Amino acid sequence: MGRQVSTRYLLIGNSAGAIAAAEAIRELDTAGPITIISDERHPAYSRPLISDYLAGHRSIKQTFLGGPGFYSKNGIETVLGTKATRLDIEGRAVELDDGTALRWEKLLLATGGSPIRPDVAGISRSGVFTFTTLDDAVALRREIDAASRVVVIGGGLIGVSVSQALVSIGAKVIIVELMDRILSAALDSQASAMVEARLREAGVKVITGRSVEQIIGARENGRRAAGVVLDDGREIACQAVVSAVGVSPRTDLVSGTAIKTRRGIVVDSHMMTSCPDVYACGDVAEVYDFARGETRPNPIWPNAVMGGRIAGHNMARAPGLPARAYEGSTNLNAFNYFGMAIVSAGIVEPPKNGGYRVLRSQTSGGRYRRVVLKDGRVVGAIFAGDIQSAGVVYGLMRAAIDTHRFEKALAAEDFSFASLPPHARQRLLDRAGIEEDGRNAGR
Ligand SMILES: Cc1cc2nc3c(=O)[nH]c(=O)nc-3n(C[C@H](O)[C@H](O)[C@H](O)COP(=O)(O)OP(=O)(O)OC[C@H]3O[C@@H](n4cnc5c(N)ncnc54)[C@H](O)[C@@H]3O)c2cc1C
Repeated sequence: MGRQVSTRYLLIGNSAGAIAAAEAIRELDTAGPITIISDERHPAYSRPLISDYLAGHRSIKQTFLGGPGFYSKNGIETVLGTKATRLDIEGRAVELDDGTALRWEKLLLATGGSPIRPDVAGISRSGVFTFTTLDDAVALRREIDAASRVVVIGGGLIGVSVSQALVSIGAKVIIVELMDRILSAALDSQASAMVEARLREAGVKVITGRSVEQIIGARENGRRAAGVVLDDGREIACQAVVSAVGVSPRTDLVSGTAIKTRRGIVVDSHMMTSCPDVYACGDVAEVYDFARGETRPNPIWPNAVMGGRIAGHNMARAPGLPARAYEGSTNLNAFNYFGMAIVSAGIVEPPKNGGYRVLRSQTSGGRYRRVVLKDGRVVGAIFAGDIQSAGVVYGLMRAAIDTHRFEKALAAEDFSFASLPPHARQRLLDRAGIEEDGRNAGR
């Protein structure tokens, strides 16, 4: 029998969700033991910044959250580079891969997502990478140089981000995307085409409507990836392959337990799972999506932070203190691809005949804007090139403000906060105050 250790608050995952929860716990309980476990070996870091590290724009340390001494200042024990392998809900214990049994009083599952492994022959060859962790970025930076040709499987947000970083270090990049356009989950076809044009100008080859069927080996070292074969038989030689086909909630630890899952772990508005004293947040949990009116995983950083703060508060609150509820979130992505700033949020490609209306600006001077409305409420938006009023439109969406009375202004090129009628302005300001509460200085 291995070592047995006890803690009050056990947080599994050492990233956006767990760190936000630890901070919220410390606001209410300055002394209760907190333990954070992660199978990654680094202190908490900003996952969105791993592309900056790969591109050579920042060091490993510059991706770290919380500042020096964060854990000791907050009285947090860390168990890093160690995986939680078995969860015993009734016995309130977690087994680790080093044989330790860790007993907890309150548990947070902030286990995030795992990269989806595509069903491609040769995927386990050396020279095939994923791009979701700092160690992935370290491995890629070690292997790739200006002479490398890299095939990126998948033209979604991660695929395009890694491609941009690889181009910055001089690599030749070929993106192979199964759909007929890149970024199809985040953008409409117009904005996708704008990003694709930027990628091509930067020297990236984009192949759409095709899939990789096989990763082939080198003649001299058959185990190492040396090229890919597409479904039309085309062969592309390369020195490395990055598999970036998506991420799915990492629910393996809860399978076989009483914790209810659907696509992710099911939680109530207090971020509590179907088992008392067990909470979940971030990419692994399903939360209310206010644009779609349904519950689903929302794998973005701010959602993990806000859910983590709510979970932490509710884990540590004394019985007399009211519980906090999470109002939910929606997909919100802000990125800058080869100098073009883009923001996309909510439903950007609504189903036909679903009662949606689309306000669309013409592409002019590299700028494009699209706002999707349902029953007068904003449910989705894309801003490309000029993102100045994106925050205002997102605010209208977040606060579900009826836009009927100022729809014409909303459609205008020069729409801004000043275009709103006073009642709408006030509601946005009130909401900004509410949200300030759920923010994390870590990002
Ligand atoms: C390349 C990339 C770029 C991104 N860019 C953006 C962006 O620009 N904006 C944005 O909003 N979002 C972005 N995201 C998404 C964002 O990073 C995630 O939404 C966020 O990190 C989720 O935080 P989390 O705490 O839920 O989990 P994660 O950050 O996924 O962390 C979970 C941690 O738990 C560990 N873990 C899991 N299971 C176990 C176990 N059994 N035992 C021990 N440890 C375990 C994992 O190894 C991991 O370290 C990006 C993601 C990637 C990969």
